Amino acid sequence: MTTTLTDYYQPGWREHHHTCPACGWQGNSRQMEMELHDEQSEYACPQCEFPLLVVLHPDLAQVRAAAAAGNAEAVEQLAILASAPSP
Ligand SMILES: [Zn+2]
Repeated sequence: MTTTLTDYYQPGWREHHHTCPACGWQGNSRQMEMELHDEQSEYACPQCEFPLLVVLHPDLAQVRAAAAAGNAEAVEQLAILASAPSP
């Protein structure tokens, strides 16, 4: 089955161990095939391309909340967003 992660800042998801139900491959997200979309990143089995993990991208409110909570990655992303010209 495909795991959907709604909280991008949840710690440890990149290292979480998955088993592919289609071919039995085992590993974490760093070893999977990643496909980037506007709203989400999709991670698929490197052997059979079965979609194992879908990570929804955080919206601005989530980035701000995580940065306020001290998440280093969110602080960096917020700095990048702040330096971008506003629409
Ligand atoms: Zn597989």
